[in-house]
Amino acid sequence: MITRMSSLFLRTLREDPADAEVPSHRLLVRAGYVRRAAPGGYTWLPLGLRVLRNIEAVVREEMDAIGAQEIQFPALLPKEPYEATNRWTEYGDSLFRLKDRKGADYLLGPTHEELFALTVKGEYSSYKDYPVILYQIQTKYRDEARPRAGVLRGREFVMKDSYSFDLDDAGLDRSYQLHREAYIRIFDRLGLDYVVVAATSGAMGGSASEEFLAVAETGEDTYVRSTESGYAANVEAVVTPPPPERPIEGLPEAQVHHTPNTPTIETLVDFLNQAGLGRTFTAADTLKNVLVKVRRPQQKEWELLAVGVPGDREVDMKRLEASLEPAEVALLEEADFAANPFLVKGYIGPGALQANGVRYLVDPRIVKGTAWVTGADKTDHHVVDLVCGRDFTPDGTIEAAEVREGDASPDGKGTLVSARGIEIGHIFQLGRKYTDAFEVDALGPDSKPIRITMGSYGIGVSRLVGAIAEQHHDELGLVWPRSVAPADVHIVVAGKDDTVFEGGERIAAELSRRGISVLLDDRKATPGVKFADAELVGVPTIVVVGRGLAKGVIEVKDRATGERTEVAVDDVVGHLI
Ligand code: ATP
Ligand code: MG
Ligand code: MG
Ligand code: MG
Repeated sequence: MITRMSSLFLRTLREDPADAEVPSHRLLVRAGYVRRAAPGGYTWLPLGLRVLRNIEAVVREEMDAIGAQEIQFPALLPKEPYEATNRWTEYGDSLFRLKDRKGADYLLGPTHEELFALTVKGEYSSYKDYPVILYQIQTKYRDEARPRAGVLRGREFVMKDSYSFDLDDAGLDRSYQLHREAYIRIFDRLGLDYVVVAATSGAMGGSASEEFLAVAETGEDTYVRSTESGYAANVEAVVTPPPPERPIEGLPEAQVHHTPNTPTIETLVDFLNQAGLGRTFTAADTLKNVLVKVRRPQQKEWELLAVGVPGDREVDMKRLEASLEPAEVALLEEADFAANPFLVKGYIGPGALQANGVRYLVDPRIVKGTAWVTGADKTDHHVVDLVCGRDFTPDGTIEAAEVREGDASPDGKGTLVSARGIEIGHIFQLGRKYTDAFEVDALGPDSKPIRITMGSYGIGVSRLVGAIAEQHHDELGLVWPRSVAPADVHIVVAGKDDTVFEGGERIAAELSRRGISVLLDDRKATPGVKFADAELVGVPTIVVVGRGLAKGVIEVKDRATGERTEVAVDDVVGHLI
């Protein structure tokens, strides 16, 4: 293919855009790959779209190679499936919610676990159908608090998301490994320098989880790795050492009220009335602003649940009974959640609490003035009168300072060094969180139902354009790896004579015939302008057709190394193939 710059929809910029903080953003805008259309929303211009499509093609090939099958969901989704898993609420402000003309609630998909689980439930019924891996490459929407760095953190972005469905844990392990290996092939082919680190499971729930981080100082993630072993982890995932077991002096223990193990509406009402919350509940009541803790069967840990918080539906007794039964429930607090933005936070990760000079592990679902503190003996203390900012961080995450360079590696081998990276991929063993929510079962050989276990795996396809640019550029411009470059060869016609233009066209035609894609600078501009644009655009090989043509030679320049070679015109195709 030949793309002529004389007609290409491209305007390069000499100046850096004012809002660009990182090199990739600066260069992608200057080189005419993307333009900002909205906060966190970018228009892909012809060259940018090619890079995006090239990345997609690599991702698609490697996903197909592990037997994953591509499907495509809408981005505009009804609320109900996300309500069933509580993510309509849990996702918080990051979810784009909207209403249709009839007033029905919709969302723009931030990730599609619910839809994939429901689709598999709809199509498959026998154990013989499994395992299956499905994926899509699709636009996702997240109302990020801080969209930044161009396509690196958009509010509308392209993600490859895949989901595996297996009959048992061993199957899930296999699907997870298949993805891990496919991701390694993908990121290798894309020319990235990256690390695989242990990760928290974030809002998804679940157990085994790893992130792929492209090494970059400008990245938003901090990771640590051991100087001696293969240990590497996102700092968010590093488990802080168990705290000393000590009562927190001066912080009174709150009263905890327990319900019977299997609450009914009647026992719930009794229980609420006995809790002394200052009002009388009836079976017809709607619960608002109530914090309860729940321990479901086979669950070791208590879960904190906020019931009827603003933005959530109000929960009536019947619903509460249905959602809790047969869990063990304890009511903790009734408080005004609307007046206190810190009251309930999402499911983030382990937090740390500093109280009286002692560090405690805290349930991240912290409420203002109230926290669950897990002591070294694994018993829970419910403490009150905490102050946000002084005693715990508002979002409950451990700050980077919690693990420092030079700390001993948790596996006992070597010390930790820290660095920054960009999250380009994330793989999760979800387990049965979503298949439980939708009762996704396969009929086993003995006609008994088998609950399916699930994995979910993401790659930030549009983010990769930025991440690759972040690693592949110099002071003059972008320097694309061949696998993603918008063209293989950039021919600069340097001269005014018809003969040089004809020479450029001839070489372009010959290369194109041999399957090499060419960006041909046939504009009537000065060589200086053309050379500067060639460096900025970043195609891996630059061919200069100029004065030498009369002597039968052209110049071939490697964009990455700067190495120049004079090549006879007749040899140029052989030289480049
Ligand atoms: P981050 O920590 O950067 O916010 P995430 O952990 O929220 O990412 P996941 O839910 O794991 O993201 O989504 C899978 C992949 O989608 C991520 O690994 C990342 O590459 C990409 N991604 C997530 N959010 C964005 C965004 N706002 N813009 C571009 N890509 C994104
Ligand atoms: Mg995120
Ligand atoms: Mg993340
Ligand atoms: Mg992630």
